[in-house]
Amino acid sequence: MATPEVFKTCAAMREYCDGARAGGMSVGFVPTMGALHEGHISLMRRARGENDRLVVSIFVNPTQFGPGEDIEEYPRDLSGDLDSCLGVDADAVFAPTAREMYEPGACTFVEQSVLTEVLCGAFRPTHFKGVLTVVAKLFNVVGPCRAYFGQKDYQQCVVIRRMVRDLNVPVEVVMCPIVREPDGIAMSSRNNYLSQEERSDALCLSQALAIAKKRLKQGERRSSELVAAMRNHINNVKSATIDYVAVVHPDTLQPVSVIEDRAVAALAVRIGSTRLIDNAILGDE
Ligand code: AMP
Repeated sequence: MATPEVFKTCAAMREYCDGARAGGMSVGFVPTMGALHEGHISLMRRARGENDRLVVSIFVNPTQFGPGEDIEEYPRDLSGDLDSCLGVDADAVFAPTAREMYEPGACTFVEQSVLTEVLCGAFRPTHFKGVLTVVAKLFNVVGPCRAYFGQKDYQQCVVIRRMVRDLNVPVEVVMCPIVREPDGIAMSSRNNYLSQEERSDALCLSQALAIAKKRLKQGERRSSELVAAMRNHINNVKSATIDYVAVVHPDTLQPVSVIEDRAVAALAVRIGSTRLIDNAILGDE
């Protein structure tokens, strides 16, 4: 396995990807904010298997953090990340500086209505504008590709898919399953912030989703009942504060009252000061 080539500028990254496509090769792209764990690695492996060239980006995007959010504390480990990229046989890593991605005076952003106004968007009003802007920029740098995102950030996947359709972006968005720790917690860079006690309290998110799945299997199709059961479970945990618990349509993200076919149970819960999200697709068994 060869060490991946590291690119720091948009121009050099674009040239690499253009060259690959000119040689008839497909490009798989995995955008990340680094601090890579098995969740990211699962996306990279999938992209590796489905494409001739694998490009991973590592960029802690300032525009998706709101005022008072954790950009300063956000974990950064470029050398560990490069080892992970080597381990999955990535061909190229794009690791630009904030200055390279956002020139002074930048004043063009990608905004989306409707889908960004619900769930996390209601609590983080500028978050998806930052995500969509950076992802659009990354897609413009990398060019036509298959791009891999985790179901862990379900709303993010839906919002990015919508942008790709609405703006005719030549990218195929692939959503990959959530990778969990053996005890059920969804892997996340933010799990590093949790104390030992909070780490065990944080299990209430995946447990709540398991309760919803079980109740549905037993025949309960009313979302209100499933939401109540999930809220009830989480509210028993002292350090937990619910931002939202919802059962929504998988594409529109609007609340559903009765689960007919498929729906998504989605939740955001603060454990102490750490905000965690998780979700499960209901009705796909
Ligand atoms: P991040 O570095 O947090 O921006 O995440 C980069 C990508 O990895 C996003 O598409 C996430 O949805 C995905 N991801 C993060 N955690 C997980 C996980 N536990 N399972 C699957 N994908 C994940």
